[in-house]
Amino acid sequence: MRIILFGPQASGKGTQSKLLARVLEMPAISTGDLFREEIQRGSARGKRAEAYMNRGELVPDDLTLTMFQERFARDDTRNGFVLDGFPRNTVQAEALDVMTTIDVILVLDLPEEDVLERMSGRLLCSKNHIYHTTTKPPKKDGVCDIDGLPLKQRDDETPNAIRTRLAAYHVQTTPLVDRYRGRDLPIIEIDSRPSIDIVHTAIMEKLAPYR
Ligand code: AMP
Repeated sequence: MRIILFGPQASGKGTQSKLLARVLEMPAISTGDLFREEIQRGSARGKRAEAYMNRGELVPDDLTLTMFQERFARDDTRNGFVLDGFPRNTVQAEALDVMTTIDVILVLDLPEEDVLERMSGRLLCSKNHIYHTTTKPPKKDGVCDIDGLPLKQRDDETPNAIRTRLAAYHVQTTPLVDRYRGRDLPIIEIDSRPSIDIVHTAIMEKLAPYR
């Protein structure tokens, strides 16, 4: 299955795409994670992307597309994938159309007040494992359950960057869902307010007819 997961910031895209990918035995590709890995490695690409990310702006398309295409070219995408955070605008969606076809669009819905509440408690380790101070706390304060690495807030979770990111999502990314609505493929909307497990179960149930 070739799936794109849309949803506003902190709607659970990272968490749900990783869970879904594990069950369906295919990769979850998150351009945000790829950029954060580039920044940690100190690569030229990471250095260029970092300033845009910290302001909450989209990274320029040339950089994003090259990075995405490199990841997408790996063999593990042959039998399907879940895309998290890509495409984010029309240029990227058009580029994706040239590379592959999509089978299902998943949209995680979350009202803005929940988005803001969730972002304020979100924690991440340097390997992109996601936690939340109230909804998904780590077993030990400030430490990732999986790899023992320290947890911190994302550098782009400052009030200004959050405002810019939400605007980018509403202005540039949500119109993409309408772009796919005109095609013959299922668009599945999921209420993302319940717990991680409930949302995951809802996703699996709604995907079942298409598997
Ligand atoms: P995310 O982890 O998906 O919230 O992405 C974090 C940041 O990485 C975004 O605010 C952008 O600055 C950058 N980013 C991630 N994916 C893309 C993309 N497809 N196009 C442009 N910038 C992106």
